[in-house]
Amino acid sequence: MIYEAKVNELAQEFGVHRNTIRNWINTGILPAREGPGRRYLIQWEDYRRLCDKYGREPRIKPDPAAPGKSTTVPRSSATAPAPVRLNVETKELDTSPGLADICLTCGSCAGACPISGVDELDPRKIVRMAFLGLEDEVVASSWPWKCTLCGKCEAVCPMNVEIVQLLRRIRARCDRDKVPGALRKGVVTCLEKGNNLGIPKDDFLALAREMGKELARTSCPGFGTPIDVRGARLLVTVNSKQPFAEPEAMTWWWKIFHAAGESWTISSEYWEGINWGLHAGDYGAMRTMVKRIIDNIERLNCTALLLPECGHAYYATRYALERWFPESLQQFKIYSVFDLLLEYLNQGKIRLDPAGQTKLTTFHDSCNYGRHSQKTFGHGYFEEARILTKACCKRYIDLVPDQEENYCCGAGGGAWADPFEAERVFHGRLKARQISASGAHLVVTSCLTCRDQILYSLNREFNLHVEVQFLWQLVANSLIMPPAETAGARRV
Ligand code: SF4
Ligand code: SF4
Repeated sequence: MIYEAKVNELAQEFGVHRNTIRNWINTGILPAREGPGRRYLIQWEDYRRLCDKYGREPRIKPDPAAPGKSTTVPRSSATAPAPVRLNVETKELDTSPGLADICLTCGSCAGACPISGVDELDPRKIVRMAFLGLEDEVVASSWPWKCTLCGKCEAVCPMNVEIVQLLRRIRARCDRDKVPGALRKGVVTCLEKGNNLGIPKDDFLALAREMGKELARTSCPGFGTPIDVRGARLLVTVNSKQPFAEPEAMTWWWKIFHAAGESWTISSEYWEGINWGLHAGDYGAMRTMVKRIIDNIERLNCTALLLPECGHAYYATRYALERWFPESLQQFKIYSVFDLLLEYLNQGKIRLDPAGQTKLTTFHDSCNYGRHSQKTFGHGYFEEARILTKACCKRYIDLVPDQEENYCCGAGGGAWADPFEAERVFHGRLKARQISASGAHLVVTSCLTCRDQILYSLNREFNLHVEVQFLWQLVANSLIMPPAETAGARRV
């Protein structure tokens, strides 16, 4: 064992002047080698002999389990940091080789993380803490909630450490009353009332019918909102933010369905598409919400499912179907927004005219449809997004970097709803910089959270002055509507 100490520490220990220690070292009375940080490295036997000569008990005893290991003189208790409490025997976060055990501590994850360093958040540190069993400390921190689960860190990890999965496990271990306010409230409200915002059934149905009448008056003659239509091919969920704050947004999809002659329906019960069980780390809630959708499909005898908004809804539902209800995937098909729109386009069910959209346009890849779908389901929706966007606009430019390397908007993983606004805006600076550098004036995206963060927050914080549209909003606005007598009449 090597004993490691500074001259002043040895002087204090042996009750002599610092120069005496230097003399002992210089004359060979105390054989020692100078090391980093002006510390001296002393063989344990030499240190023990000196202790014997002065009738002292060695302050440090060799650890028989760690031969050759160096040890340092402990600092006084007034300045010593809290001892690290290793808990490797009972650790629960790091339970598979895909998590932390194989980490090289290379720091690539920290280098890629847009908020590494903010409030001492550092994915490498989180991985090490999980590896060392410091679970209570990492669970009690605010890091898992300031992180957007964007996956930039694990995308660059040379050892494929599953950092996002680890962060989800940390969220899941958090006491439910410590889950940031809106996320927890949304989950509880959804479980109790059927949707995140507690919109009463009668209010929702009245609004949906009224919006259908409005659509019939303005652009889709003969349209009526299909509610609880048994035998419809496609069940479509609704994001409760839309009937609550932006009901017109529901009708962009409805217009596309009308033009494509789709056979579709929404359910009068449990129509919510949001699944904050994923963000809150509440897998019981996540499962319950997906089971409700399955029950609706069976009740209405549908054969396909679309979760129009947003990225996490598609990811959470498909993940839950594959994990807990794999037999359901034999009974019905789950569409992503890209799959369905491209199917309509390729099969000639919709026609698009790019002439109306002349602004330089770019596409922002959401983490859930992109990186996470790529990793979890084996396919990220990158090319599809660009085919559809380019079919609707005359001038297109990609962001740099994009697709799998794309930066998160800064509000993912529930960050739009949690209280860490400064961190959310700081994270979004990279997205703002990308958009600004592209020169685009229209940003198209496939996720409600990304849309809101860029439109309402980054625009204001970084003076972007860009328009932001959903992909299906752009498609709806670019539709060449079929003649009134055929639209809505054809059935897929
Ligand atoms: S990138 Fe991977 S291997 Fe490197 S420090 Fe991070 S978790 Fe460890
Ligand atoms: S998931 Fe994103 S925000 Fe979270 S630690 Fe990794 S890079 Fe950082």
